[in-house]
Amino acid sequence: MDIFLKAWEYINSGKVKEEDKTESNIYFKVGKHSVNFPLKNSWQHEMVCTCTYGSLQGVTKNALCSHKIAVLVFKTLQFKLKKEE
Ligand SMILES: [Zn+2]
Repeated sequence: MDIFLKAWEYINSGKVKEEDKTESNIYFKVGKHSVNFPLKNSWQHEMVCTCTYGSLQGVTKNALCSHKIAVLVFKTLQFKLKKEE
């Protein structure tokens, strides 16, 4: 399945949940996987997902997966909804 469609379905079915926030990360649960979103922008701080695809090593290290996309879109939509309140 298309990873964008999959990401959208995670959001639409309420499967993206913000679990915790620290000074350097926001932690999300997306379905049964955990995604961390780094608040500090540098090469050392990248989004990491616990799914097989998102945690690949080597050349394909830390590939983009539907869970990471779901988190990005979810956060973006929060701003849109806040603006419309
Ligand atoms: Zn993933």
